[in-house]
Amino acid sequence: MNNLYQHKGQINNLDPLTASKVICIGRNYVDHIKELGNVVPKQPVLFMKPNSALVNWEDVVAVPTNRGECHHEIELALLIGDRLQNATAEQVAKAVAGVTLALDLTLRDVQSELKGKGQPWELAKAFDASCPVANWRALPSVEWLKNANMSFAVNGEVRQQTNTDTMIWSCIDLIQFISKHFTLMPGDIVLTGTPAGVQALNPGDKIEAKLDGMFSITSEVVGCE
Ligand code: ZN
Repeated sequence: MNNLYQHKGQINNLDPLTASKVICIGRNYVDHIKELGNVVPKQPVLFMKPNSALVNWEDVVAVPTNRGECHHEIELALLIGDRLQNATAEQVAKAVAGVTLALDLTLRDVQSELKGKGQPWELAKAFDASCPVANWRALPSVEWLKNANMSFAVNGEVRQQTNTDTMIWSCIDLIQFISKHFTLMPGDIVLTGTPAGVQALNPGDKIEAKLDGMFSITSEVVGCE
């Protein structure tokens, strides 16, 4: 699949921001941790997707059909605008250049097998086009990050719905933590974890994601290999 991702959206100064790494949080909502039978972690669980995983989330979302179930994980996504290393909360607050929704597409059967062997998750999470990202919007305020509603529906049925006030670690705390381990560069993306309700996506599904008060996006799922 061609990877032609570029940051797009309704905010100023997007052009100098080059898409690079995506840092993802594995377990940040208690309800989702319980549904997969995991333990609430003592510190954030981090993994990464490479820039080849990025695609602009538009009319169509492609899911692999030859590697078991591919699950939707709807997540609040944050666009980093400044270089952050060992950042303070204040520096982080100034560095969030945009917000949107993204899908952390996950090959769940592959992931379960990898987890069982104690191996890293990249084959399940970092494949091409595993990270559709909707158009970026300006961040209304830092306070907004603590109380944002989002939902994800498949064929008219809401499967995932949450408010960011139920996160274990807030967006600002997460970015601060990440910046202690990996330097965040302008253009990097942080995915903040998914709430409960993850399930398989199948070709032909109609999906709708909503970020309350900001936008909604509808797409059709197609299969790929
Ligand atoms: Zn996720």
